[in-house]
Amino acid sequence: MKIAVAKGDGIGPEIMDAVLGIFNAAGVPLEYEFVDMGKWVFDKGYSNGMTPEAQQAIETLGILFKGPMETPKGKGVKSVNVTARKTWNTYANKRVFQTLHGVDTVFSKAGIPIDVTVVRENIEDTYGGIEHMLTHDVALSRRFITRPGSEQVIRYAFEMAKKKGARRITCGHKANIMKITDGLFLEVFYKVAEEYPDLKADDVIVDDLCMKLVTRPDSFDVVVLTNLQGDIVSDLCAGLVGGLGFAPSANIGDHICIFEAVHGTAPDIAGKNIANPTALLLSGIAMLRHLGFMESAAHIENALLFTLESGIHTGDFGDKSIPSVNTTEFANAIIANI
Ligand code: NAD
Repeated sequence: MKIAVAKGDGIGPEIMDAVLGIFNAAGVPLEYEFVDMGKWVFDKGYSNGMTPEAQQAIETLGILFKGPMETPKGKGVKSVNVTARKTWNTYANKRVFQTLHGVDTVFSKAGIPIDVTVVRENIEDTYGGIEHMLTHDVALSRRFITRPGSEQVIRYAFEMAKKKGARRITCGHKANIMKITDGLFLEVFYKVAEEYPDLKADDVIVDDLCMKLVTRPDSFDVVVLTNLQGDIVSDLCAGLVGGLGFAPSANIGDHICIFEAVHGTAPDIAGKNIANPTALLLSGIAMLRHLGFMESAAHIENALLFTLESGIHTGDFGDKSIPSVNTTEFANAIIANI
């Protein structure tokens, strides 16, 4: 089986090389078609950040494994990440946040296990980029929430929760203030919930949700939100399990799926070979499971967990009394444990 791979910008090539090296060592039966996407493609004059050849390859292969990408600053240029999600209607962004042994957090030290999956609507909301100056002093932004758009992501979240054996699914929202837009999302949530009587479905206003997530993260299971609120809440959840270095994501569509880390290009550490490849590796493991390579996924996951539990860590986490290793050394430690 062949998939498309875009290494990305900043730390992207370093962490992608580390992850593909681990895949090769584990004998993952995948072939890769490397495609041109990212900032340097914008710089070549492609205004959507990808070449036509890249777009065609991704549409033919159906799976894109991607590193983080930078959007050039300035007007008239759209984020390649947002463009990719919209072009291929990857309407559900699934982000899994789990306690990892060896990654110390306030919760792991207190013996509170975390296993929260955030499903973020990925296409609508304020991400249309429709904003303008109404007068010299007034800026206006438009927000779109549609019934079909809400239904497809909420239905995905319920199906995923059912398969996962979740006990609870929660809708995060601000329908007390945005009564029409978030009100519609919440209405659709409870309509779909009627078809899943075995799942406890409830809702929490997003600010209260943030407070409850940082005080009792173990009381949540699956949380579904609109685009912008989902983006913010999922970074909060990344902080609960040790930071952005441990936050994987899958952009799910009916025809094309994109697997990538939640974090960005980390320009402050790019080119130094010190980035943590774990989030991209966890995204890759989720991709292997999605493709049905359960055994390879389990081998790599066990090697990663064993490496973390052994105290081997990049500089962004772990026991400071144990010296950190660089990206290549971290990947090699995982390979040695496969
Ligand atoms: P960022 O996630 O790149 O970095 C935030 C902080 O986390 C930095 O201090 C960085 O060093 C650290 N960090 C991130 N990933 C790390 C890793 N794997 N290992 C160790 N430390 C890590 O966020 P930012 O600085 O706001 O964004 C930088 C660029 O990335 C921007 O151009 C933004 O648009 C882009 N971005 C892309 C994506 C994507 O491709 N999906 C997502 C978010 C941001």
